[in-house]
Amino acid sequence: MAEYDIIIRNAYSNEHDRTLAIGIADGTIATLEKEIDAGADTEIDAEENLVGPGFVDSHMHIDKSFAACGERRPKGNESSFDFAEIMAREEEYFADASVEEITQRALQNIEMAVAAGTTYIRSHVTVNHETFGLQNMEAVTAARDEASHLADIQLVPAARHVPDEAGKRILSDAIELGKHSGSINEPVLVGGSDPAGSNKNIEGTIEAWFDIASEHDVGLDVHIQDGGTLGGYTLERLLEYTEKNGYDGRVTASHCFCLSHLPEWQIDGLIDEFNARETSVVSCYQSTRPSMPVRELLESGVTLAHGTDNDRDFVFPHGNADSLEGALVESTKLHGDRTFVDDYRWFDTNEGLGWLWSMITEQGATALDIEKQYGLKEGNPANLVVFDEPSPQWAIISQATRRYVIKDGTVVARDGELLPEHKVTE
Ligand SMILES: [Zn+2]
Repeated sequence: MAEYDIIIRNAYSNEHDRTLAIGIADGTIATLEKEIDAGADTEIDAEENLVGPGFVDSHMHIDKSFAACGERRPKGNESSFDFAEIMAREEEYFADASVEEITQRALQNIEMAVAAGTTYIRSHVTVNHETFGLQNMEAVTAARDEASHLADIQLVPAARHVPDEAGKRILSDAIELGKHSGSINEPVLVGGSDPAGSNKNIEGTIEAWFDIASEHDVGLDVHIQDGGTLGGYTLERLLEYTEKNGYDGRVTASHCFCLSHLPEWQIDGLIDEFNARETSVVSCYQSTRPSMPVRELLESGVTLAHGTDNDRDFVFPHGNADSLEGALVESTKLHGDRTFVDDYRWFDTNEGLGWLWSMITEQGATALDIEKQYGLKEGNPANLVVFDEPSPQWAIISQATRRYVIKDGTVVARDGELLPEHKVTE
C-alpha cells in the first residue's frame, strides 16, 4: 500500500511563497516538504502552479437557488428591484415548492460551488411563521447532510418580524432543527435582516436576535442593508449589543451598504468597534458599492470576507456560486476613479488582488471561525484546489481552471465538473 493517498508535486503555495510537495493521507495534509520521497495512490503534478485551500463562500442562500430558472429567460428578470414584489414572488415560489424540490436545488447549488473550488459555505435560510414554516430549513439540513463529503456548511436561519413572539419562536425552532437533525455537527447561527427597514424596531430586533443567540449559545450573522446614517446607527447599536452580551468574535454583519454613504469620522469609529468587538463584515460582489472603504477596512485589520450571495433566484437572476468570479467582479467594481487619488485602480494591483484573494480564503475562514483548521498546514483537513495559473493574481485575472478540487483528501471535482461518483443531485 502506498504511503499517501495523494501527493501533489510542484505545488506553488502562496502562503509559503515557494513550491512544495503535499502528501495527503487519511483526509488530512500529512506532509508539506520541498520533495516527498514516497509513493501515492494518486500523483498530481501541479506544474509549479498555485495550490490553495478551498474557497470560503461566506454568504449564500442555498434554499432559494435556481428559483428563477425555467424556460428561455430567468423569471427573476421580470422587473427591476421592487422589494414588495420580490417578497410576493418568494411566498408564491415557496408555497408551491416541496421540501424535496428545495433540497435538490440546494444540492445543485452546493455542487456548483464545489466544482468552482469552494469547500466551506455559510448559507442563510429563510423561515416564515405565516406561510411556508420550517420547510426550507428541513430542506437545507437534508442537503447539508447529504453533501457533507463535498463542503462544510454552516446554516443561518432568518425569520422576518423577529421581535414578535411568533417570529422568535420559529427562529428558535429552526436553530434546534439545524443543530439536532442528522449526524452533522456544523455551527448554526442566528440570522435576520434590517431592524429598521424590515421590522421598524431597531432595539427590539437586535435584542431579540441576541436573546435567541444566547439562549442557544450560537453566533449571529445578520443582513444590515439600510443605507446612510440609519444603517450606520444600526451597526453601532449591533456593536453595542455585541459588547453587552459578551459576543466578541461571534457576530458577522453582512452587506453593510451604509459603509459607502458615511462620513470619514463615522467610518473610523465603526472600524475601531469592528476590531474591538472582533466583528466580521461580509460583502458580496453584487452588494459591494464602488465607494465602500474596502481597502481601509482590510488594511485596518477588520475581517472582511466575501460571499457569492444569491444564485439565479428571484432576488438575483445571476450567479454561478464562483468565488473567483466574485473576486474579479469586485476588482472591477472597486476600480475607483481619479478623484480617489491613492486608491485609483488599487484593486487592480498585485497587492489589491492579493487582498481580494484573502477575502475568499483566509478572511472567510476567520469570519466562519474555522481559521485554526484552515489552509496549507500539516494536520489540517486536505481541502485543496489545484489551479492552472501560478498565483492568486493570475487565478483571478484569467478565472483559472480549477483542475482538481480535493475535499477531505478525496478528489471530488476536475476541470470545473463534479466527478459523477460524488454527485448528490438526482
Ligand atoms: Zn443575503
